[in-house]
Amino acid sequence: MLILMEAGHEEKQLEAVIEKVRSLGFKAHVIPGAQNVAVGVTGNNAAIDPRLFEGMPGVADAIPVTKPYKLAGRDFKRGETEIRVGGVVLGGYDFVVIAGPCAVESEEQTLRIARAVKKAGAHLLRGGAYKPRTSPYAFQGLGEEGLKILAAARAEVGLPIVTEVLDQRSLDAVAATADVLQVGARNMQNFALLKDLGKIHKPVMLKRGLSATLEEWLQSAEYILAEGNPDVFLCERGVRTFADHARNTLDLNVVPAIQELSHLPIFVDPSHATGLRRRVTPMARAAAAAGAHGVMVEVHDQPQHALCDGPQALSPDEFGHLMDDLDKLCRAIGKQLAPQPAATAASRTKSHR
Ligand code: PEP
Ligand code: MN
Repeated sequence: MLILMEAGHEEKQLEAVIEKVRSLGFKAHVIPGAQNVAVGVTGNNAAIDPRLFEGMPGVADAIPVTKPYKLAGRDFKRGETEIRVGGVVLGGYDFVVIAGPCAVESEEQTLRIARAVKKAGAHLLRGGAYKPRTSPYAFQGLGEEGLKILAAARAEVGLPIVTEVLDQRSLDAVAATADVLQVGARNMQNFALLKDLGKIHKPVMLKRGLSATLEEWLQSAEYILAEGNPDVFLCERGVRTFADHARNTLDLNVVPAIQELSHLPIFVDPSHATGLRRRVTPMARAAAAAGAHGVMVEVHDQPQHALCDGPQALSPDEFGHLMDDLDKLCRAIGKQLAPQPAATAASRTKSHR
C-alpha cells in the first residue's frame, strides 16, 4: 500500500498515518517527493483495505500495491539506487568492474592478483575467504585468515573488497572486513541470513539463485531492504537450463527486465555464467552492451594451480584487454568506465606500481 499525503498536509497528520500503520503491525516508510510526501507500507501479507487510510485528514489517496516486492520495485522509489563504496559509485552512469581470484589462497597469490587487476583498471577487488563448494572435500576457503589477507590487499592497492558471506556464524567477521558482502547464488533464499544482512550498514551484492525467477530474486532483495539496509545490488551469474554447452545459461534478458521493474543496480558475472575463460570476454562485453551497471570477473595469474574455478579465470593480460574493450564499448553506448578509487595514504606508500 502506498499512502499519498495532500500537498499541504500537516506534520501531525503524517505522524497519525505512520502511527496507524504501526498500530496495524506494519512498517511505515516515509518517501519524500518534490511535491508530495508518500508513506509506503510493508509487512502486510495480504492486501490492506485502502479505506483505513483514505478518510484520514491530510491523506490524498491510498493505493494498493500488488507486487510482492515493494522497496525493491519502482513504485516506492523514483530514480536509481546509487551505492558508494570507497569512492566508487555503483549503479550510476559509470561502468564498474569487480575483479580478482575466485578464492583467497595465500597472501602472495592475493597480493599479486590484486596488484595486477588494480594496474589494469579494476575498481573493486573480489576474493572468497569462505567458499560454497559443491563437494565437502573441495577447498572451503581460508576463513578468517582469508579476510586478513583481503584487508592487507586493500591496504596495499587501495581497492575496496567484495567477499562472500556464507552463513550467519561468519557474518560479523565478514562485515568487519568487507566493503561489499556477497551473497552467493546458493544462499539467495537463505532468508535468515538476508534478514541479518538487512541490519548491517554495508552494501550487499545479491547473486541470482541457480534457478531463481526475477520475482523470487527481487523478493530476496526485499528481505534485506525491509530490514533497513538500502544498499543492495544484484548480480546475474547464469541459471540452470536444459543447455549443457556452458556451465550455466547467462540470462542477459534479465538486465533490461530488472531495470524496468527495479531501481537496484544490476551487475553481470560472466565467469560463473560461462565457466570457460575464452567465453568470459565476449559475455562481459555483451553485459556492458546490454546496459549492466558493471561486471564481476575472476582473474588468476596461475590458473592451472588455482584451488577453485581456474578454468574460468582470465589471466591478468586477458583482463587488461577486456578493460580496453569495455572502455571502448562504454563510450559507444554513451557511458564510461568509472574512475578508479583514489589511493589511500597507506596504499600510496606501499604501492608497487
Ligand atoms: C563466486 O562468486 O565465487 C561464487 C561462488 O559465485 P556463485 O555464488 O554465483 O556460484
Ligand atoms: Mn568462483
